[in-house]
Amino acid sequence: MNTTKSESIYSEAVQYIPGGVNSPVRAFKSVGLNPIFVDHAKGSRLYDVDGNEYIDYICSWGPLMLGHSNEEVLSGVEDIIRRGTSYGVPTEIEVKMAKLICQAYDSIEMVRMVNSGTEATMSALRVARAYTKRNKILKFEGCYHGHSDALLVKSGSGTITYGVPTSPGVPADVVKDTLVCRYNDLDSVKQIFEEHGQDIAAVIVEPVAGNMGVVAGKKEFLQGLRDITNEYKSVLIFDEVITGFRLAYGGAGEHYGIKADMTCLGKIIGAGLPVGAYGGKKEIMDMVSPVGPVYQAGTLSGNPLAMYMGYKNISILKDNQNIYKELEEKAIRLENGLKENLKKLNIEGTVNRAGSLVCLFFANGPIENYEDVMKCDVEKFNIYFKELIERGILLAPTQFEAMFLSNAHTNEDIDYTIKSSYEAMKIAFNK
Ligand SMILES: *Cc1c(COP(=O)(O)O)cnc(C)c1O
Repeated sequence: MNTTKSESIYSEAVQYIPGGVNSPVRAFKSVGLNPIFVDHAKGSRLYDVDGNEYIDYICSWGPLMLGHSNEEVLSGVEDIIRRGTSYGVPTEIEVKMAKLICQAYDSIEMVRMVNSGTEATMSALRVARAYTKRNKILKFEGCYHGHSDALLVKSGSGTITYGVPTSPGVPADVVKDTLVCRYNDLDSVKQIFEEHGQDIAAVIVEPVAGNMGVVAGKKEFLQGLRDITNEYKSVLIFDEVITGFRLAYGGAGEHYGIKADMTCLGKIIGAGLPVGAYGGKKEIMDMVSPVGPVYQAGTLSGNPLAMYMGYKNISILKDNQNIYKELEEKAIRLENGLKENLKKLNIEGTVNRAGSLVCLFFANGPIENYEDVMKCDVEKFNIYFKELIERGILLAPTQFEAMFLSNAHTNEDIDYTIKSSYEAMKIAFNK
């Protein structure tokens, strides 16, 4: 694989951008490589500046359900740009977008657009705290909700603890009200509610955790969160930034049949442009300025270009819900192929799948929480990753991320991936 041009851009990038990248995981650091720089992408394929072609399983980390530069999503976009790219005054497309989201999500009666998933979760928590007049929040280890201060925590020792900042620059005082429990462990949640229930404003959870590989929330666990938050009048927030419009058209809420009080969206609703959204019950959303006292704003929020692309993306999914079935079938094909590879080579591994999200862990299962995920053989994964990229397959450059399938991935893409994965496993495990 020739990467001369990427290397040369990278050597310049590191002089002007920390680590040469605008988001850490793009650095490929955890797999011990330098990043590839992209020239363009189409469908399931990504092409780097050196002309290498890859079957892409990053797909912008989730937004591209329909694949790269989908013609239908893009049609008309030039006309939109020529009319102007931002006004700071409302546009009709924002209303259409909000209506589409509210119709798709039982749990969303009103919605506010923001510019990223980070903003969505941060704002939802602010509103939940104001609504309940309480300060504490509860999150789960291994769930990622963006990089706002209060959510950048890990648990201390033990399963139920006060959060410890995971990053310098986050004052301990800022996370002192962030409680952390173990994912899929309802007992730890019950215990913490017995102690702090009256002070807990919100429980925030990824219904399917997509930032520690793929770990699906158990139905009893999520239902348990619903019941306990009802009992204590805390706000249940589903962070559906990955699962929204992916797990089902109505997201994890629809998939599990559980209605959260608030839902955060991102990724797919922007079709690859910077968008996030948070919404929920009208009574809660009425807290938001200018109706209510909770301040939250954004110069580029509801940006017409982003709304146009997002609206198209969601409308296509709405009108073609067979896409969900097709995508799931492809994901099952991949899941089965990877499982078969592990079996044939007698390698310790687990394949988790939720809808079109797939993850191969190099550790014996079941993998149900962060501790389980941490048992993975990361060194083996790194070799596996390198062997796959050499074969034209681009995974997220870390063991702890999902493989994102798009509707543009073909069965041939998947079969080639399975075959290459077999060869890569063979090398990584000296089989
Ligand atoms: C990506 C992600 C976020 C953060 O979204 P950004 O747009 O990167 O700020 C929040 N929650 C979940 C579940 C995510 O996957």
